[in-house]
Amino acid sequence: MTSNAGDKGLLIVLSGPSGVGKGTVCSMLRKLAPELVYSVSATTRSPRAGETEGDNYFFTSKDKFRSMIEKDELLEWAEYVGNYYGTPRSFVRDTINAGKDIILEIEVQGAMKVKQKFPEGVFIFLMPPSLDELKNRIETRGTETDESIRNRLSVAVDEIRLLEHYDYAVVNDQVETACSRIRSIITAEHCKRERIMPYVNSWMEEVR
Ligand code: 5GP
Repeated sequence: MTSNAGDKGLLIVLSGPSGVGKGTVCSMLRKLAPELVYSVSATTRSPRAGETEGDNYFFTSKDKFRSMIEKDELLEWAEYVGNYYGTPRSFVRDTINAGKDIILEIEVQGAMKVKQKFPEGVFIFLMPPSLDELKNRIETRGTETDESIRNRLSVAVDEIRLLEHYDYAVVNDQVETACSRIRSIITAEHCKRERIMPYVNSWMEEVR
């Protein structure tokens, strides 16, 4: 038995309100936890400076994205600020079946869709330390007008209401601390009795 007891890897969903710092936490996790596999989403938005195809996202046209939806190639998808984002299903399935843990960094609508299809996933909600701090983070993103900031904040408050559907809440006060909490959650999930029981049952069969 290894620390990764159980044949399948974990499907871990990291989500939370807009502006909470999911992307920053995930980038840091990539450095700190290279043993995790990171799902690369498809999106119709344009690449930002420094982003590369297949690493940050698969950048696709709206037509191609619609065809992926029609062919049922996406585990979940959502429209977010005028663009589509979705998780390619086959990569997630193959990774879990290979016994590796995969992490999906996605917004809350998509997370709820994954929860319906894959309730045994591990759902982690990244929280701001306070509403004031979230407002501050949204404001310091730059280019936003007052109205857009108000809209984003009210959307973020609605998103926080979805917390009740998650297994864990991690406060993103310091990025490294948030990453360490996430890694602890993953370790604890691997130690869950129900993941270990099939092994123990097979030992019991042997000694019968
Ligand atoms: P950004 O454009 O800043 O990279 O991402 C915008 C939002 O889309 C973020 O909240 C990010 O978590 C979310 N996102 C990225 N990929 C996916 C995906 O595959 N599915 C869903 N539902 N959301 C995603």
